[in-house]
Amino acid sequence: MSVQQEGTAGGEALEVWIDQDLCTGDGICVQYAPEVFELDIDGLAYVRGEGEELLRAPGASVPVPLPLLSDVVDSARECPGECIHVRRVSDRAEVYGPDAE
Ligand code: SF4
Repeated sequence: MSVQQEGTAGGEALEVWIDQDLCTGDGICVQYAPEVFELDIDGLAYVRGEGEELLRAPGASVPVPLPLLSDVVDSARECPGECIHVRRVSDRAEVYGPDAE
């Protein structure tokens, strides 16, 4: 049995969420990290939870798997809607995305 590692920033676990109000539906995030993001039939991107179902609740977040961290970060940087947010689990501080310092 393997234990899935999660993305870290300075050793901190990270999670990612999408603000669908700003999503343009271009699908760039899905191209970068299809394991984490998916376009729904409404044309907007959502994060994928356990069992790969889409989490449609506003602000729903999922852990960032460490092997996918660079892909998720690239998604946040390239997202034309500036609506992909990567934050620390511990204090919810954004480390990548439009609200990162
Ligand atoms: S890259 Fe951003 S704007 Fe484009 S589909 Fe993904 S979340 Fe939406």
